[in-house]
Amino acid sequence: MAVEFVKCPTCKQKLAIMDYVTEGMLVVCANAHCGTSLRVVGRRPLRVEAVPEEETYKPDYRPESYG
Ligand SMILES: [Zn+2]
Repeated sequence: MAVEFVKCPTCKQKLAIMDYVTEGMLVVCANAHCGTSLRVVGRRPLRVEAVPEEETYKPDYRPESYG
């Protein structure tokens, strides 16, 4: 399975994004001290942006985990 790498905009941690993660999906920073929710805003090139914490309280919020 292919992965791409992107830096967390909050802590600069390098994150592995699986190739099935599409634009608009939410992921969570792999850095346990950060844990920022991130939205994939672009795939070519791969870009993520931090999601305001209140958005993560929605019941349909299901973060992807990193391998
Ligand atoms: Zn982070």
